[in-house]
Amino acid sequence: MFPRTFAKRSKQHLLMTLAGCLMSLLGTGCQSTDQSPSTKEAVPHERPYVLILGTAQDGGLPQIGCQEPCCIRAQQDLTARLFVTSLLLADPLSGKRWLIDASPDIREQTALAHGHPASRQETGPRPPLFEGVFLTHAHMGHYSGLMHLGREAYGAHNLPVYATKSMEQFLTDNGPWSLLVESNAIQIRSFQPDTPIDLGADLKVTPLVVPHRDEFSDTCAFVIKGPDKSLLYLPDIDKWDRWKTAIEDVLKNVDYALIDGTFFAEGEIPGRTMAEIPHPFITESLRRFAKLDSSQRTKIYFTHFNHTNPTVINGSSAHQAVKSAGMHIARKGMVFDL
Ligand SMILES: [Zn+2]
Ligand SMILES: [Zn+2]
Ligand SMILES: [Zn+2]
Repeated sequence: MFPRTFAKRSKQHLLMTLAGCLMSLLGTGCQSTDQSPSTKEAVPHERPYVLILGTAQDGGLPQIGCQEPCCIRAQQDLTARLFVTSLLLADPLSGKRWLIDASPDIREQTALAHGHPASRQETGPRPPLFEGVFLTHAHMGHYSGLMHLGREAYGAHNLPVYATKSMEQFLTDNGPWSLLVESNAIQIRSFQPDTPIDLGADLKVTPLVVPHRDEFSDTCAFVIKGPDKSLLYLPDIDKWDRWKTAIEDVLKNVDYALIDGTFFAEGEIPGRTMAEIPHPFITESLRRFAKLDSSQRTKIYFTHFNHTNPTVINGSSAHQAVKSAGMHIARKGMVFDL
């Protein structure tokens, strides 16, 4: 049920290592297969997985101009930065991978994705970035990374971008994004909500439309389903009770849920009306999910943290409140096997 990191080997990986060692007793020397993410060798038949590339709200952390303690440290120490929310979906069997949300931190996140999956062929000075990019919506944290795909930077050619019709319209009708479409840097493949998109024999992504300030486009969550497990990615929603679907029903059918944890509580941004930027406060989610069985609560990982959100600080009372409610805090580098 819990995510892994690449520091730990999967059970299957371990079995293969042992099998390899056994064979080597009969022939050549035993080779360790304990590898770091960037050097991990291909392990056939490993399951698809999701790697977290970022967990911050659209503005990232530090946020521009913030002189509060939440951002001061990250302004001086780049390792304390939180990248904007984004996921990598990797399929070791096919060597393919997809980016979920193109964040403003896409350059660093593409570097983080290097070597995932290990079976991927990444040769030459400019190997293909991804087999496709899935977009949730047209708020800056979720699509503006596309700018690095144009002529000024990577110069992609027909890179598939999966989005709703309204997101497609937004990209097609507005510069500078329209240039990416006209120059065939990206090729938009619009999808229908609730209709699974096949990415392989046993790998599907199903978009769900959720209520969110739809100034430029509608907004999707994604259910990513592998051969054994599935993961819900829902970084932005106005409030749980504004959704026609009960989040609990979605939760029942997945194994992991990375959900909107933008703000911990009311009053978190002094001087701003929080009703203008509605999100379910983590305090509201904790109350709502307290009714659920622990087997459901343990699926939940909060993500999309605003820079003001104290939940990201280890040992804070907000952090403790999430942990003692049997839920989790998403972190960059977490891996969820599907
Ligand atoms: Zn967002
Ligand atoms: Zn701040
Ligand atoms: Zn948004």
